[in-house]
Amino acid sequence: MNKPLGAIDSGVAMASNFAETDVVIVGAGPSALFAVFELGLLDLKCHLIDILDRPGGQCAELYPEKPIYDIPALPVVSAQGLVDRLMEQIRPFEPEFHLGEMVTELERTESGFRVRSDANTTIACKAVVVAAGGGSFQPKRPPIPGIEEYEGRSVFYSVRRMEDFRGHDLLVVGGGDSALDWTLNLQPLARSLTLVHRRPEFRASPDSVNKMYAMQEERRLEFQIGQVVRLIGEGGVLEAAIVKGPEGEVRVACTRLLPFFGLTMKLGPVAHWGLNLNEELIEVDTARFETSEPGIFSIGDINTYPGKLKLILSGFHEAALMAQAAKRIVHPNQRVVFQYTTSSTSLQKKLGVA
Ligand SMILES: Cc1cc2nc3c(=O)[nH]c(=O)nc-3n(C[C@H](O)[C@H](O)[C@H](O)COP(=O)(O)OP(=O)(O)OC[C@H]3O[C@@H](n4cnc5c(N)ncnc54)[C@H](O)[C@@H]3O)c2cc1C
Repeated sequence: MNKPLGAIDSGVAMASNFAETDVVIVGAGPSALFAVFELGLLDLKCHLIDILDRPGGQCAELYPEKPIYDIPALPVVSAQGLVDRLMEQIRPFEPEFHLGEMVTELERTESGFRVRSDANTTIACKAVVVAAGGGSFQPKRPPIPGIEEYEGRSVFYSVRRMEDFRGHDLLVVGGGDSALDWTLNLQPLARSLTLVHRRPEFRASPDSVNKMYAMQEERRLEFQIGQVVRLIGEGGVLEAAIVKGPEGEVRVACTRLLPFFGLTMKLGPVAHWGLNLNEELIEVDTARFETSEPGIFSIGDINTYPGKLKLILSGFHEAALMAQAAKRIVHPNQRVVFQYTTSSTSLQKKLGVA
């Protein structure tokens, strides 16, 4: 009998995508990436699922260009630089990434666990590592009355498949990198594209801003200063938006609205998996970093224990100890032999350096 640990119905019907692996990692932040390395040295294969469209968690999303000074042996490294190095370090273990997907369900089965995402990915595994950081990054909803009615039908906060936007009249709203990147990428597919931002200055990379203004010159898109104050349509089907700008209100015909107002972090579905929580953090022991549910581990910013420090290096240490414990669950009959990468030819073969 399956024992459900908790579920949130995403309400989205999509083609199912099934996989089997040793360990599923919820999140692809720095703790999760280093966990792939430690698990890989012990011959455990991993799939990682993250709601963001790229690996790196907070480092990649919140402060990619900021220098970090407290990573052991790296006197200074940019946050994105650290993510790039971690990705290089785990390459030999060929982890599978499911990006742009939120893990919604975690279910215990006779042989381990089944993990499901809101994109209908289902992965069967023997152990789960929750490395969900401050929780899932979720888009901020703009203050437009009645926008909820259109969400998932005409209003989208991310682009999973560009093809879904082909032939539409697109209205992109925002002034950051996401708004500008999607403006440039979707323009060739769209029937028409209008970008709306409340001022002519953008927070996006200057190169993207220049390209956008060049496209406007060539009349390939419209740029309007203002804010969307009202949506016009029925039954979730959008026809137009009212944009209030310096000259008053204008009606912009659109069938798809893409607001990019940044992301907030919320604990999200993790709260429903029946794990012991302490102020929205997952309680773990400090020998195995296992949660109150055997076989479900938790590392990085999302966990708590006496003396916990929310630092990247804490996640790395926790990953190493967790991997030893996960190995005993996935391969209970195999002896775990402690080895150094400097001297073990077996580890060096796994790393492709022997
Ligand atoms: C501005 C800033 C500066 C910082 N500077 C430093 C520093 O100098 N040194 C240092 O050590 N630390 C620093 N930190 C903290 C450091 O970034 C965190 O400790 C680190 O990112 C934690 O890594 P993590 O992998 O545990 O979680 P995160 O980086 O938060 O990654 C967790 C990932 O899990 C995903 N996720 C969560 N729930 C789900 C779900 N249900 N489904 C799918 N995906 C999910 C999230 O989308 C996220 O990508 C800084 C943080 C900030 C914000």
